Amino acid sequence: MFKRFDRPVRCSAGHLFTTIWIPGVSLKGARLGNRRYQRCPVGHHWATVARLDRDTASAEDLAAAAAVHDIHIF
Ligand SMILES: [Zn+2]
Repeated sequence: MFKRFDRPVRCSAGHLFTTIWIPGVSLKGARLGNRRYQRCPVGHHWATVARLDRDTASAEDLAAAAAVHDIHIF
């Protein structure tokens, strides 16, 4: 139901996944502009994650991010 807020992100350890990113709302974790601190579902650790720019990120990165969604950790 939050599909339109899905955003591909990369954690500080280089993991790629998709998370819910609602502008102006801190759903979980601290918000720091295009970065925030949250749980990484790939490495199962807390990390600073940064949004991938759909215009500049590679297709491989976007595909990898789309393959993992953190919706199950809610
Ligand atoms: Zn990670």
